[in-house]
Amino acid sequence: MSGYFPLDALDGNDSGLVQALFNENQGLREQISHHTQLMQLLTHQLATPLTALNGSVQLLAEPDLNTEQRCEFLAVLEQQLARLQSLLDDLIALRNLETGKFETRVEDFAIADLIQEVAADFSPYPLVYQFPEEIPLVEGDRWQVSQVLVNLLSNAIKYSPNGQAVEIGISTSQPGWIEVWVKDHGLGIPEADQPYLFERFYRVKHRDRQHINGTGLGLSLCKRLVENQRGSMGFESTHGKGSRFYFTLPAAASL
Ligand code: ADP
Repeated sequence: MSGYFPLDALDGNDSGLVQALFNENQGLREQISHHTQLMQLLTHQLATPLTALNGSVQLLAEPDLNTEQRCEFLAVLEQQLARLQSLLDDLIALRNLETGKFETRVEDFAIADLIQEVAADFSPYPLVYQFPEEIPLVEGDRWQVSQVLVNLLSNAIKYSPNGQAVEIGISTSQPGWIEVWVKDHGLGIPEADQPYLFERFYRVKHRDRQHINGTGLGLSLCKRLVENQRGSMGFESTHGKGSRFYFTLPAAASL
């Protein structure tokens, strides 16, 4: 970033310099507008849990509450604190990924085992596995891949208010790569929202999900985590029918 430029130092032959300064100015304006937008979104994300926390704390201070009411308000406190914690965790992870400060430990591991480990935490929700017989080991950071799976599975379940089974599959049709996918038969994503889904803080505002909480950070984090393994991520979805999110991981070099 350059500092103040003395305009009287320009002469008639400086059109290249003027153009460069103009471009830099334009870039800085875009950065500022991007940051302002992020700040607005963040403010909004902080305001909701803080309002709920405030309300519960005030109600808890009422002297003649019975144990049941007290437990109810404490549960709201706990839920909203967890929401703030997960917002903070996601923001820190995103920042560290973007500034290259995220510690990545690459190893070869069995993706089917990892999927089953992660899926166990979602029991008893009905999950259906579609794994081929032979699956090469993948190369990547096992913990980071587990975070992608957690996010995709919790979204698939969260946006399936009908409770229908979620499918998790592996495909090995592309040599050198392993594709993992999570398919649900839930709300799906309106077409108009689809281009923005991986943007930070982006949430679909359709009335079919107005009571479903979230920060809009999960998918942007997933995409960056997958890219950190050299893979790529995408989805296909039909509003009202369901979605299929998929990502690729490099297969470990065979010895
Ligand atoms: P969050 O769930 O916290 O809002 P995400 O980044 O995980 O944030 O998702 C962004 C938006 O994409 C969500 O608000 C939701 O409307 C939509 N979405 C994500 N996954 C699914 C899914 N499996 N089915 C339907 N909509 C989804």
